Amino acid sequence: MTIAQALRESAAALAASSDTARLDAELLMAHALGVSRSDLLLRHMDDEPPPGFTGLVERRLAHEPVAYIIGHREFFGLDFRVSPSVLIPRPDSEVLVEAAIAGRPDARAVLDCGTGSGALLLAVLANLPGASGTGIDNSAAALEIARANASALGLGGRARMIRADWNEPGWTDSLAAPFDLILANPPYVETSAELSASVSEYEPSTALFAGREGLDAYRALVPQLPGLLASGGLALVEIGMHQADAVSGIASDAGFTAKLRRDLGDRARVLELTQMQ
Ligand code: GLN
Repeated sequence: MTIAQALRESAAALAASSDTARLDAELLMAHALGVSRSDLLLRHMDDEPPPGFTGLVERRLAHEPVAYIIGHREFFGLDFRVSPSVLIPRPDSEVLVEAAIAGRPDARAVLDCGTGSGALLLAVLANLPGASGTGIDNSAAALEIARANASALGLGGRARMIRADWNEPGWTDSLAAPFDLILANPPYVETSAELSASVSEYEPSTALFAGREGLDAYRALVPQLPGLLASGGLALVEIGMHQADAVSGIASDAGFTAKLRRDLGDRARVLELTQMQ
């Protein structure tokens, strides 16, 4: 059996449970071999499959996300370490990073609320060399991952990761407000939503669920943003695809004008909030 054959067979088996079966098989194989995916495809297709590969495919067949199995995930062209303590960065969230970079290219101070792996904050900092940022999260395990990512990306000197919970009074005391840019991909899934097994059984529920309508985090966080934003500042919040009106309403009550941005699949994904004059 060659690696090429093993990839074909496992991709066929994974197709029942994954939309990205071939890619999954290649990423798992590259991980089992300890090489990059491009090295795998260019140099190893005629080799024997490594013994660990079958076990990795079995974990994926049980719906474990590839990113947790191999321990990392690409986002905005950067490699991020991930663990089950953090949400896996989604391509859909890249539009938020694009909006931040385009909207405030001169930003000096950036805040990321619920930073998780640090993906949003670190992708913005990597593209705005004059900016520094703070990522907050209420999970100590997530902050460790975020700090490791900041160092690995050479951004440790410009990114501070601190524990804070926007539901606790005084949570902003340790933040050096004001910020030119505020980013947030808070939990926004309805408690009753039926998610795929790879999400519901493996990803952290505290990063996903936000009450009956999925709006609890916006209700708690958005009214506090005016107190953290510099004058002329921009806040970008990720939203669920059916939440544009509801979250725009919450933002308008907090004194914001909201502009909608869509993701690559043309779904409502990000609101750009600026303060009404
Ligand atoms: N996009 C994620 C999902 O639907 C949800 C992310 C979030 O709640 N912030 O799986």
